[in-house]
Amino acid sequence: MTDRWDIVIVGGGHNGLSAAFYLARAGLRTLVLERREMVGGACVTEEFAPGYRASPGAYVLSMLRGSIWRDLRLRERGLRVDQSGPSLNIYPDGQAFTLHGDRGQAADAIWPLSETDARAFPEYEALLGRIAMSLIPLLDRTAPDPRARNIRDLSALARLAPLALRRRRDIPDLAYLFTTSAKQFLDEHFQSEILKSALGWESISNTLAGPSTPGTAYNLLHEAASGGSGGGVGWGFVPGGMGVVTTLMAEAAREAGAIIRTGADVSRILIRDHRAAGAVLAGGEEIRATRIVSNADPKRTFLTLLDSTDLPPGFVAAVRAYRCEGASMKMNLAVSELPRLRDEHAGGMQPYHRGLIQITKPLSELDRDQEAARAGLPAELPHAELCIPTVHDPSLAPEGRHVVTIGVRSQPYRLGTGTWDDIREQAADRVITALGDVLPNLPGSVLHREVLTPLDLERRLALTGGHHLHGDMAPDQLFFLRPVRGFADYRTPLVGLYLCGAGTHPGGGVTGANGRNCATEVLRDVKGGR
Ligand SMILES: Cc1cc2nc3c(=O)[nH]c(=O)nc-3n(C[C@H](O)[C@H](O)[C@H](O)COP(=O)(O)OP(=O)(O)OC[C@H]3O[C@@H](n4cnc5c(N)ncnc54)[C@H](O)[C@@H]3O)c2cc1C
Repeated sequence: MTDRWDIVIVGGGHNGLSAAFYLARAGLRTLVLERREMVGGACVTEEFAPGYRASPGAYVLSMLRGSIWRDLRLRERGLRVDQSGPSLNIYPDGQAFTLHGDRGQAADAIWPLSETDARAFPEYEALLGRIAMSLIPLLDRTAPDPRARNIRDLSALARLAPLALRRRRDIPDLAYLFTTSAKQFLDEHFQSEILKSALGWESISNTLAGPSTPGTAYNLLHEAASGGSGGGVGWGFVPGGMGVVTTLMAEAAREAGAIIRTGADVSRILIRDHRAAGAVLAGGEEIRATRIVSNADPKRTFLTLLDSTDLPPGFVAAVRAYRCEGASMKMNLAVSELPRLRDEHAGGMQPYHRGLIQITKPLSELDRDQEAARAGLPAELPHAELCIPTVHDPSLAPEGRHVVTIGVRSQPYRLGTGTWDDIREQAADRVITALGDVLPNLPGSVLHREVLTPLDLERRLALTGGHHLHGDMAPDQLFFLRPVRGFADYRTPLVGLYLCGAGTHPGGGVTGANGRNCATEVLRDVKGGR
């Protein structure tokens, strides 16, 4: 250990690790302080019952940036992705619809729902693919600041010009997609309510907004941005679980020279003469550093690790107003057999076992669930999506057994009455019973379960409000507005303090981009003597 570090990173989530890699590789003495006994944050694999392993957070890899794969040599270190199967959508009246990743197969499956929609689908996919391609280059760099305060801002804006020129025909669609609701966008393209909810449910996955809330259409891009059309790796499951991603990232960071301390809970960021000067651990140990990079979310960083008197009042007000309340419950089930659809006669593995199984409903009903959630009422028969990671890697459970991972939506962090500690088990029972209507053998096959309400996610993973993405991803909290306007370049009002987690551009998901972009800005300041 050293008595003064060049860099201390608060948090060893995947973005903290990505930042650590780039900063250590540049020769800076870099220390990562992670409060848990393991690195990885919301991207880990943990044993939740004897012999059963799963992630309390991220379960599919879809957007890890190409530069992170390359620079950290993740493929050479052994990271693999097993492509997800098609997603099966099941509706309250028992109708089922499979959404295929392959465009031709998708159009064939849509045909029985609506011939018009089947004809419109390729054009819709192509449009989203084009918009995603326009945006993807922006993920890999600091969001350009429209205030053009200096030469760097000006040159970042100038670099955008050729891209905007090349893609100018898509600009109106892009602007529309960012401002309208998922429902309105889908209503414009399709007739079938089943197809619209199969495409649009994601608009509610990490927010209290409903599909009719303006600004939610942007979520429709997720698929296009992660699939082949967007240049990503597509949706996939990682053999060994998502923890393999962060274990290998930590290996790369250590090899580059970073030191990682786990069980190191930072209680306070030290400020001296208006600049960040170190971190104080919960036990009182003081660690000095020239620069501090926080991987914790914006609210945690600015409202709990710092004294608000050290920050401008307007900035504190903007951080308080930043929306960061989760609305999802996560469950991991240890089961004795694969769940099976009602009336399924064939035994063995079916294509839907390899993908997502969504128990869903029309967008108008999802709107009602979200409205109730905003009032503090968890949906009784919520949208839920299931996947079975053991189909992709049987070693995650004892032989012949499986893990079923479930995301349950419209479960607000803030309840109207009572606490999640009071209703956790009851809410989980209700979900499992409801799933039994569609997958009749599921309830009786459950051997163990792990239930993580938004409150549990906050307690266990230090996600303020239990928010999966360190804050809503909506047009007013994205790009040069994330986390708050004027501070989207990973810097903060305090000299020497930076933010590198999902609460910065380009937002949440396992991308590694936030950590890398932040490291680029820190290195600029080091070079410029700031
Ligand atoms: C239930 C759930 C499901 C998800 N599903 C997916 C998915 O399938 N695919 C996907 O791409 N993304 C998914 N996500 C989102 C994704 O996991 C996150 O956006 C991403 O992991 C955030 O990474 P991060 O490094 O920015 O922050 P985090 O992973 O939150 O890491 C922050 C780290 O900082 C540490 N920390 C915080 N405060 C302190 C402190 N005071 N002292 C020391 N350490 C501290 C935390 O312990 C944590 O390790 C999901 C998230 C959740 C919660």
